[in-house]
Amino acid sequence: MASEEGVVLVLETKRNPAIWKIFDLCLMSDNHEMARCKNCGKFMKATANSTLKKHTDKHCPVTKAKKEEKGEGSGSTNM
Ligand SMILES: [Zn+2]
Repeated sequence: MASEEGVVLVLETKRNPAIWKIFDLCLMSDNHEMARCKNCGKFMKATANSTLKKHTDKHCPVTKAKKEEKGEGSGSTNM
């Protein structure tokens, strides 16, 4: 399992609770910080708040699935 590759530490942050309740702020082995989506595990630049927001709003497969579930609810689309 290599899902945690490069992550040295998960940091606490109080920067932007709306975002950081969905993302983990991770310290990577090369000493920079990355944001990791708690839903799908995708890594993104921790500095790009708008990108992170966009991910949760539009691009996160898990959020998407939830939204679709709420909407038409036409069965199970499990990946
Ligand atoms: Zn995601």
